Amino acid sequence: MAAKIIAIITVSDTCFKNTSNDTSGPTLVELVKELFPKSTIQTTIIPDERKIIEDKLKEYCAKNADLIITTGGTGFSNRDVTPEATKAVIEKEAPAITIALTIESLKKTPMAMVSRSVSGIRANTLIINFPGSKKAVVECFDVIKPILHHAIEIIRNETTKVKSVHAEMQGHICPHTISNVDVSKVALRPRESPYPMLEMPEAFKIVDTVMSQWVGGIQEVNIKDGLGHVVAESLYAKEPMPPFPASIKDGYACISSDSVGVRRVRAAVTAGDSFNLLLQPGECARINTGAPLPPGADCVVQVEDTKLISASPDNETELEVEILVAPKPQQDVRPIGFDIALGDPLVTEGSVLDAALLGVLAGAGYQHVRVRARPVVAILSTGNELQDPSEATLKPAHIRDSNQTMLKALFKEHGYDSVCEGVSRDDACALRTAVTHALRTADILVCTGGVSMGERDLLKPVLTQDFGATLHFGRVRMKPGKPSTFATCQFEGKTKYIFALPGNPVSAYVCCLLFVIRALRVCERRSAEFPRLRVRLARHFALDPRPEYVRAILKFTDDIPHAEVLGNQCSSRLLSACGASVLLELPPADKELRSLAAGTVVPAIVTGRMDLN
Ligand code: AMP
Ligand code: MG
Repeated sequence: MAAKIIAIITVSDTCFKNTSNDTSGPTLVELVKELFPKSTIQTTIIPDERKIIEDKLKEYCAKNADLIITTGGTGFSNRDVTPEATKAVIEKEAPAITIALTIESLKKTPMAMVSRSVSGIRANTLIINFPGSKKAVVECFDVIKPILHHAIEIIRNETTKVKSVHAEMQGHICPHTISNVDVSKVALRPRESPYPMLEMPEAFKIVDTVMSQWVGGIQEVNIKDGLGHVVAESLYAKEPMPPFPASIKDGYACISSDSVGVRRVRAAVTAGDSFNLLLQPGECARINTGAPLPPGADCVVQVEDTKLISASPDNETELEVEILVAPKPQQDVRPIGFDIALGDPLVTEGSVLDAALLGVLAGAGYQHVRVRARPVVAILSTGNELQDPSEATLKPAHIRDSNQTMLKALFKEHGYDSVCEGVSRDDACALRTAVTHALRTADILVCTGGVSMGERDLLKPVLTQDFGATLHFGRVRMKPGKPSTFATCQFEGKTKYIFALPGNPVSAYVCCLLFVIRALRVCERRSAEFPRLRVRLARHFALDPRPEYVRAILKFTDDIPHAEVLGNQCSSRLLSACGASVLLELPPADKELRSLAAGTVVPAIVTGRMDLN
């Protein structure tokens, strides 16, 4: 496959006059370099002139560019003509790219409605218009990133690669991708795993050390998407809260030195109103909770401590009330900055954004917050026996893929997004294709299946022989999850992290919690550990020779929670994890200790919800 030629055109009168104004073009270059490390990137800055834009597009197409991205000139102003120039040169439209850009951009800002971007193809070149702002460029590139390689390959008619992606998407073996793994000599396969059996603390230490090398930097998120992210900067109050002295009660704003007695009701102030007249001695103002105190008032008397003396004949206006209880200065008033003083810390670097913190930031006028970046996670199931869960009828000897749905939800439960990569067959070429596809977008790939001792368990050799991966571990003394594998490899200039977990659903569930969620937390530089509790076994439990992670729910009937094990703990029986609040950390059996009696206190890792029902 030839190195790609990619052109970035900044279309802007101001950048043309002063090239140092162009931040979007250089940003695009960085993004393109990352996705196409071997490409030749050409850049140019041109003014908002239709003819010049058309000529430049044609020039790059004639130079056989694979991709042209323009930035700028897509808006509503009369100088904005990039879409018109693009329409004039393209031979085929690519409307779905434009629609995808619009849909995703609208989720970020309604300003996307004033972009008129166009996408299309001229000869062998894909042309895409981006808006001019740096932020829009980053967001738009993220949208098109997953299809760029494939789109270019189709336009170039690189049939081998195209077929491989299509075949892989349909779960077929790709006849064109060659794996280095030789599967022909089944009789020669090892009868014992060649991988040393690591103890759990060693495996955790390796995950921590390797993952702490991941450098994701900092990203900005809208507070609406901030839940669960780790804040990368301390933020302070730019304004006091409340910004005015506010009433805490429904009642009457008074002058405290007036004490008890009859007051003229000068006005009514409800929340959201402002009242500028100075309250005079002997006067009061009816006031609601959250409304600003009128000037001159220094206290609020709750309505329960007052009596109506006179009203207008139609009863629509209160004229006089009697204050029955002498008020103190500042009574039932929240002074300026009562909740948050100007300059108070709102959130400190390293805090995890929860609902209350997001509310504080929203209230303080912060729309965006810088957070520690997270790696992109992809999930891939492997197995010839697997069907998509949407298929109603099972073929003979087949089962539905439950791991992909389960793992995606498990990541979500712990606050992380992930991308589903479907199912790969147990074939070295298909696995190579599927892993390649996943690694194009993901930093961390989580595979399930294909890591045991069967002749179709090919993931480890594919990782080492086709991707040059280093296996940091390939076997761990644990139940479930013994063949758990953790590897890294270099792929298109970046380090990729691969967790190859056993296919049995419970093994995948437990190992994802213990290794992958841990890895994600290490990447965010937050505590890797789940909280631990001491719990009492509700029933007797026979120990396994390996340390076992037993799924259980807790009953809070005593001073110490009771752990009720969720039925048969066989690693295929995912029902044993349904509703689990904890994984009990049970020691391995030895000669002296073969089982734990009911009532034994054991450590439990809190991995699930603590619902009482
Ligand atoms: P493996 O780890 O590939 O040897 O598979 C172990 C067991 O897990 C086999 O019974 C598989 O059929 C089952 N299995 C593997 N992958 C999945 C999956 N994605 N969903 C449900 N079961 C699976
Ligand atoms: Mg399998």
